[in-house]
Amino acid sequence: MLKLNEEVCIGCGICESSCPFAAIEMVADLPVIGDSCTLCGACVDSCDVEALSIETAESSGVADISEWKDIFVYCEFRGGVLATVSLELLGIGRTLADIRGVKLSAVLIGSETGDVADTLIGHGADVVYRVDTPELAGFSEDSYTKVLTRLILDNKPEIVLAGATAIGRSFIPAVATTLNAGLTADCTKLEIRKEDGALLQTRPAFGGNIMATIVCPAHRPQMSTVRPKVMKALEFDSARTGEIIDVEIPAALGESRIKVLESVVSEESNVNIQEAEILVSGGRGLESEKGFALLKTLADSMDANVSASRAVVDAGWIPYPHQVGQTGKTVAPKLYIACGISGAVQHVAGMQSSETIVAINRDENAPIFDVADFGLVGDIQEIIPKLIRKIEEKRGA
Ligand SMILES: Cc1cc2nc3c(=O)[nH]c(=O)nc-3n(C[C@H](O)[C@H](O)[C@H](O)COP(=O)(O)OP(=O)(O)OC[C@H]3O[C@@H](n4cnc5c(N)ncnc54)[C@H](O)[C@@H]3O)c2cc1C
Repeated sequence: MLKLNEEVCIGCGICESSCPFAAIEMVADLPVIGDSCTLCGACVDSCDVEALSIETAESSGVADISEWKDIFVYCEFRGGVLATVSLELLGIGRTLADIRGVKLSAVLIGSETGDVADTLIGHGADVVYRVDTPELAGFSEDSYTKVLTRLILDNKPEIVLAGATAIGRSFIPAVATTLNAGLTADCTKLEIRKEDGALLQTRPAFGGNIMATIVCPAHRPQMSTVRPKVMKALEFDSARTGEIIDVEIPAALGESRIKVLESVVSEESNVNIQEAEILVSGGRGLESEKGFALLKTLADSMDANVSASRAVVDAGWIPYPHQVGQTGKTVAPKLYIACGISGAVQHVAGMQSSETIVAINRDENAPIFDVADFGLVGDIQEIIPKLIRKIEEKRGA
């Protein structure tokens, strides 16, 4: 909590003007701290006479992590659409909550959320904290940070999970910083130690060459982001019941210092390889940008989308939204056809959950064959036209 040493305070009011959340009001020459304080520390830094300080559990000598329980999943809702990663996180959240014997709570922030809260319950949530107000219709880092931070401080969950999406990546680190918590980004596996609730957060490290498991034993909440398509959502169960809690927030929390002047949808953002059922993926074995024309014909012959390795994205043969892998997207289509891709660990990290993997490569020792269900050893310039002919014959028939 924020503490004031009245004997030292000179009533200058600098803390009031430095507070980004308008949480401080000067009354009778002394700062009064309001509900919207998020413990960001801006006032502490601005106070020349050191009259303000933040007392954390650790600094007060009572790091009582037992006060923190339950699991929070931030469920991303934007432009009337719930991000599918939210359901995937509820899936893993349900497993962790059951092992630990605690509640799984979904956090829904936005405007006009309709029956999304029921969807979240049907997919595993016991409780939905819903903050539905017109001020939060558009995403902005500062207001969403304040609202989620407030919900976490009020409810003290031991674990907070969020999607490693553009939105999650932009404001979840700010929430973690404000809470003085750690954050493990881009986890690929989450497990829990039943006895003490320690979250075992596994993610690639050192360029994807090792998998590191990160534990945060002495601080709560434990915060992780997970990429879309890494975890599995539970089937919707209309018989599931849960509690929906509508949370009223102080007006100051919903206010943002960011004004969105215009939103422009970029053509590239329409490429969503993560939703594709079939992906035909090209690598350096295509030899040039022109190789993608052949790949596109193969993709069109079976209503598939085209994706790629990083080598060809870096070469400028295809734009970044098509990239699969550790620094690209994680995909899990029904069928993934890797054409002229060697199968580097950073590429495999992004596609190994695909249901069926077919690899075409002229090097029979290429590592991609280690993860492939079917391997074709040969030149893609010969094999792909044959494949296209066969598919067209079958389709024609
Ligand atoms: C920190 C870090 C992050 C990275 N992130 C990613 C990532 O997100 N995604 C990613 O893909 N990579 C990533 N990489 C790069 C990765 O290590 C590889 O360099 C890259 O995946 C190689 O791409 P490639 O398989 O297309 O090319 P290559 O490794 O050059 O392989 C080309 C393959 O094509 C085959 N071939 C050549 N000609 C033919 C032909 N005519 N017919 C059939 N086969 C042929 C060859 O035998 C070879 O196996 C990352 C690297 C680092 C260090």
